[in-house]
Amino acid sequence: MHDVIIVGAGIGGLTLALTLHRAGIPCRVYEVADEIRPVGVGVNLLPHAVRELSALGLQDALASVAVTTQEAVFFNRFGQLIYRESLGRFAGFEWPQFSIHRGDLQAVLLEAFRARVGADRLHLGWRCTGADQDGDGVAVHFRRTSDDAELPVQHGAVVVACDGIHSVIRKELYPGEGDPVYSGYNMWRGVTRWPPFLSGASMVRAGWLATGKMVIYPIRDAIDAEGRQLVNWVAEIETPHYKRRDWNRPGNLDDFIGAVADWQFDWLDVPAFLRAADVVLEFPMVDQDPLPRWSFGRITLLGDAAHPMVPRGSNGAGQAILDAQALADALAAHADPVHALQAYEDSRREVTSNIVLTNRKNPPDAILREVYVRTGDKPFARIEDVIARDELVALSDGYKRVSGSSREALGARSSSGAP
Ligand SMILES: Cc1cc2nc3c(=O)[nH]c(=O)nc-3n(C[C@H](O)[C@H](O)[C@H](O)COP(=O)(O)OP(=O)(O)OC[C@H]3O[C@@H](n4cnc5c(N)ncnc54)[C@H](O)[C@@H]3O)c2cc1C
Repeated sequence: MHDVIIVGAGIGGLTLALTLHRAGIPCRVYEVADEIRPVGVGVNLLPHAVRELSALGLQDALASVAVTTQEAVFFNRFGQLIYRESLGRFAGFEWPQFSIHRGDLQAVLLEAFRARVGADRLHLGWRCTGADQDGDGVAVHFRRTSDDAELPVQHGAVVVACDGIHSVIRKELYPGEGDPVYSGYNMWRGVTRWPPFLSGASMVRAGWLATGKMVIYPIRDAIDAEGRQLVNWVAEIETPHYKRRDWNRPGNLDDFIGAVADWQFDWLDVPAFLRAADVVLEFPMVDQDPLPRWSFGRITLLGDAAHPMVPRGSNGAGQAILDAQALADALAAHADPVHALQAYEDSRREVTSNIVLTNRKNPPDAILREVYVRTGDKPFARIEDVIARDELVALSDGYKRVSGSSREALGARSSSGAP
């Protein structure tokens, strides 16, 4: 088979390249950035994605740079505990959950790519401008990032758009697609160097959107002599306006810190923690309506290019990784690349569309919403009087089923909840 052309060396593109390489399918990757730098902040990899990366032999490399997440913990804005559940290996899964800096994840993938696929198969500073096809293959067009000069047309068997939320190829396939859909909530993200809190590997969700919600979890262990961690945080607040989405737009603490000014919990002084941040970024909670079609002959979409979702269920990176596995399987199973791309779409489009829609309405944070609504945003005496534990478990498990990260989907190692 001729090479698969991959546009974008992000999480999906690099995983696809590694998975294709393992299947003996040649590929080349083209990336707009002149160099791959550790940009972004934290992402979570749930066991379903870690399973795929483990099959690529990357689990140890990931474990050495990530935090192996132990538990999810939900609090109201008064610091009262609503719900706690074990995660990953600590919940009996065969695979761990990792909380990781996006740059560290990309670096692990990149190192494996260079060692296995070959550094000469990664072209940096190539900005894709579009793709054409005929019965025999694809022709993909690029300009040089540094000076916008036209670069030689690249030919291959198929082209896979792994070029993220501003995908050029998606735009070419859907020129009339409207603006991103704004959820009405703005998001500020950042990292702070801070001593371990709670279990030292807890993913915390607290508050609610109307008055301010936070997600906080460590992504690097023991980063200095005092044993501090690099802790990722996200603040989400109902906000009528938003600026164009850009993963690296600097944000301003004063725009949101007032919402959590009195969040002094016995395990974390939230305002002090935020004031100590190294980085503050701003990002609107936007997504795009699910598409009716991803594969057009020899051209297809993958990851955020195919299904951008509001980052609320720890599934953005994970679903790109699952897409990569499905596409490599389809290309290995079908001699005709057009059939392969269709089979890939058939196996992934509906599943990921459901996740996009569920992230809008019922992500895991629905637990916080229920308590906010039922208590009228007041402290409670006993959580059992507000919501039954079974209901909390059902809310959490419901999302896992939609995203394919339930124990049933992956196979349980034990159901005791013990590590
Ligand atoms: C700079 C950056 C920072 C991010 N930070 C976070 C974060 O902090 N938290 C989080 O949850 N998610 C973050 N994400 C998104 C997260 O990586 C994705 O949601 C998820 O991993 C899906 O991966 P993907 O491969 O589809 O997209 P991405 O990982 O976004 O990769 C897309 C790649 O395509 C490249 N590209 C774009 N346009 C072109 C073009 N025309 N030609 C060639 N290459 C192109 C991009 O430079 C990028 O390397 C970030 C993405 C980026 C690009």
